[in-house]
Amino acid sequence: MKILIVEDEKKVGRFLKLGLEEEGHTVSNAYDGEKGENLALSEKHDVIVLDIMLPKKNGIEVLKSIRSNGISTPVLILTAKGSLEDKVEGLDEGADDYLVKPFAFAEFIARVRSLGRRSGAEKTTTLKVADLELDTLTRKARRGGKEIELTNREYALLEYFVRNVNRVLTRTVISEHIWEYNFDTGTNIVEVYVNKLRNKIDADAETKLIHTIRGTGYMMKLE
Ligand code: CA
Repeated sequence: MKILIVEDEKKVGRFLKLGLEEEGHTVSNAYDGEKGENLALSEKHDVIVLDIMLPKKNGIEVLKSIRSNGISTPVLILTAKGSLEDKVEGLDEGADDYLVKPFAFAEFIARVRSLGRRSGAEKTTTLKVADLELDTLTRKARRGGKEIELTNREYALLEYFVRNVNRVLTRTVISEHIWEYNFDTGTNIVEVYVNKLRNKIDADAETKLIHTIRGTGYMMKLE
C-alpha cells in the first residue's frame, strides 16, 4: 500500500515508516501540516496517518481540507492521551479511526491494515514458504494444508518471519517489530515466543523452517 504519515515528531515518523516498509508498504513522511496537506492533495494514497498537534496547520484543518477536496482516502488520526475533544472532532471531520499516543507498533499496524482493507488496497493475501501458507487478511496459517491455531502475537511473529525469509532477524529487531519500540530486550520473551511458534509450525514437520543463528537471533529458511 502507499501510505502517508503526517507526524512532526521525527523519531516517531521515521520509526513508523521503517516498520511499514518492512511490511512491504511504500511510505512518505511529512513533518508539518502544510507539507502533509500538499502531499495528500497531490498524490494518491491508500491510507493517511495524521497527527493532530502539528506545526503550520493542525491535523483537524488538514483533514477538513482533504475531505473538502473530495479525497476519501481512509485517515487514521493520532491523538495525545486524554484529548477526547480531538478524537471527537477528528471523527466528526471524517477521520476513519484514531489511535491514542503512546501506542504499540502492533496496534498501529493492525489499524493501518484494517483501513487498507476498507480502501480495497490490500490485494495480496497469501504468503508462502515451502508448505507453510499465511492468509494476511484472515490472519490464518496452514502447514501442509493443516490449519495452525495461533494467538495474535504468534501470528504477527510468523508473518514477520515469512516476509523476511532467508534474512537473519536479531532478537532486538524482532522485539521492536512485534512489541513496542521501548521493549526491554533483557528478558527472554522473544525466545519464549519463537519456541511457541516452533512447537506449532515445526514440531511435526520434516523440514524445519525456523533456525537459530547462534549469538544473533533467528532466520526462516529451507535447509
Ligand atoms: Ca505532534
